[in-house]
Formats: sequence, C-alpha cells, structure tokens
Amino acid sequence: FDAHVHARAQDRLGLESDLRHAVKNAEFEVHYQPIVSLESRMCVGFESLVRWNRNGKPVSPADFVPMAEELGIIEPLGAWVMQQACQKFAEWKTRYPGQLEYITVNVSARQLVQQGFVYLVEQTIDRNRLAPADLRLEITETALMDAPQSAAKALDELRAFGVKIYLDDFGTGFSSLSHLHKLPVDALKIDQSFVRGLFVQDRPAMVESILALARTLQTGVVAEGVEDERQASTLEQLGCRHAQGYYFSRPIPAPKADALLAAHAPLGGVRQPASPQTTVAFPARTLKSA
Ligand code: C2E
Ligand code: MG
Ligand code: MG
Repeated sequence: FDAHVHARAQDRLGLESDLRHAVKNAEFEVHYQPIVSLESRMCVGFESLVRWNRNGKPVSPADFVPMAEELGIIEPLGAWVMQQACQKFAEWKTRYPGQLEYITVNVSARQLVQQGFVYLVEQTIDRNRLAPADLRLEITETALMDAPQSAAKALDELRAFGVKIYLDDFGTGFSSLSHLHKLPVDALKIDQSFVRGLFVQDRPAMVESILALARTLQTGVVAEGVEDERQASTLEQLGCRHAQGYYFSRPIPAPKADALLAAHAPLGGVRQPASPQTTVAFPARTLKSA
C-alpha cells in the first residue's frame, strides 16, 4: 500500500513540475471549436480550448486546469490563452469580414477574482484592436458561488466595458433561482448532458425549461455537445439559436479553423425536419424563437 501511495505521489509531483515548466515556457496550444448558427449552420464564433501535450501525449484540460488552479499558475496560463485567442480572432476578422460574431475564452474562478483581471482583459482587447463585444468569457456557476461578491464585481466591470459573459455548463451547478435573476450574464451555455438527454424520457423538459428561463432572463443561449442532426434540428425548433458539438466540428487547431472559414460552407450533415415525435412532445407556443 505504501509503495502504491508513494508511486502516486511521485507521479503527481512529476506532473506538477512538468506543468509549471510548461506554463513558464508557454508550451500549450489553443484549439478552436466552431459555434454555429442553427438557422444557417454557418460558423459564427469559436470557443477557445487549451491543449497540452506532455511527452507527446495529450493531457485533458479537465485534469491540468484544476491542477494549475491549485498551483496558483492558472493566471499566466489563462492570460496566454486569452492573448492567443484574441490575436487569432483579430486576424480572422480582417481576413474573413462579416463571418464571425465572437470568440469565447474559458475563465476559472481564481482568474476572475485575481487583482487586475479586468485591466488584463481590457489590455488584451486593446492590444489586438478588438471591440469588447468580440470577446465572451465563459464562467461556470461554481466560479460564481465560490466568491459571489468579488466575482460579481469583476463581472459588472467587464460588462460595463462591453465584454459579454457566458455561464458555462449551465444546469450542472446549483444556482438557486433566487440568485439567477441577479446574475450578471449575457448567455447560458446548455450543458451537453441535457443535449444528450433530449430524447430520454422527461429530459427534453430540461432543455425546454432552460430556454424558457433564458427568455425570462433575456439572455442568449448556446447548446453544447451537439452530436447529431436530430439534436440540432430539435434545438433549433425549440428556439435555440447557437450550438457547438462534434456534429459540426471538433475543436481544431488554428490552421484548420482558417481553412474552415476560407471554405465558408455550412457545417454538419444533411438537414432533416425534426422527428414527428418531437413535434408532438413540444406544444407550439414553445417553438417560437427566443
Ligand atoms: P467546457 O468549457 O465545457 O468545454 C467543452 C468541452 O466539451 C471541451 O472539452 C470540448 O472538447 C468538449 N466537446 C465539445 N463538443 C463535444 C461533443 O459534441 N461531445 C462531447 N462528448 N464533448 C464535446 P475539453 O477541451 O477537454 O475541455 C474540458 C474543460 O476544460 C472545458 O469544459 C473547460 O472547463 C476546461 N478548459 C479548457 N480550456 C480551458 C482554458 O483555456 N481555461 C480554463 N480555465 N478552462 C479550460
Ligand atoms: Mg467552455
Ligand atoms: Mg461547457
């Protein structure tokens, strides 16, 4: 047992030290996942997702991002990702005028409450000659619950500057309804678990409820994790405007995103009408657009 625990501790130490080294030398890449308009199926934006290869093997950000947070090195890593994303977006805006509406960057709780974060965002936008609304910051519910006061202050300042805030993985945290109407957010990202559950008994009601909530709160909605046409067309029918997922495209490196924009073609497979079962399940009044 001791040997096993010791080996695991060694592994962890090795990983931490490699991660510190990688952050110091910016040994990461940013991949971009297209966000499409469900109506036109054209790419209207990208989500920026950080990638790390350790000894030639990819490590999931779900593993190393929390580690970077614990080690207190998420700030330089996050700043680097934001700069890369803004630089790329500026390039694409010039090269493909009119195609893109925005780029999103994931921001962790620690970054949000870090001293000078708002200034860092403003600087990054100015340096790359972007408009503030070009950048959307994705924040999870848990980030807001961890430090509600200081987080809310940062979000208010960012929104006053013109940057938009998206609530990531919406529905998986435990935002209380009483809290929700005060949340300074511009859009909700429907977590992929709800999209996957669209056709499981009782679950479409969840997506419907989130869309109804978004209408009440007057926020936008982006569906995550769309993997087939049935999900895409149902979400569209329910009034969801933007979506992302493997069905349209996986997260891709910048040169591939470039090629995708150059091709300027709709993403995903052949469109079909939503199945009749869906039409029965949702009354007409819920089918109006948000
Ligand atoms: P997230 O922000 O919710 O990102 C969505 C995740 O779902 C991504 O995983 C993406 O590759 C994956 N995904 C997209 N479409 C589909 C689909 O159709 N099916 C399935 N099964 N998965 C899909 P990824 O890239 O592994 O990132 C995991 C998480 O790591 C992200 O979740 C985010 O919370 C975090 N993360 C990634 N990059 C950054 C970053 O630069 N900063 C921070 N703070 N967190 C990041
Ligand atoms: Mg995200
Ligand atoms: Mg998400």
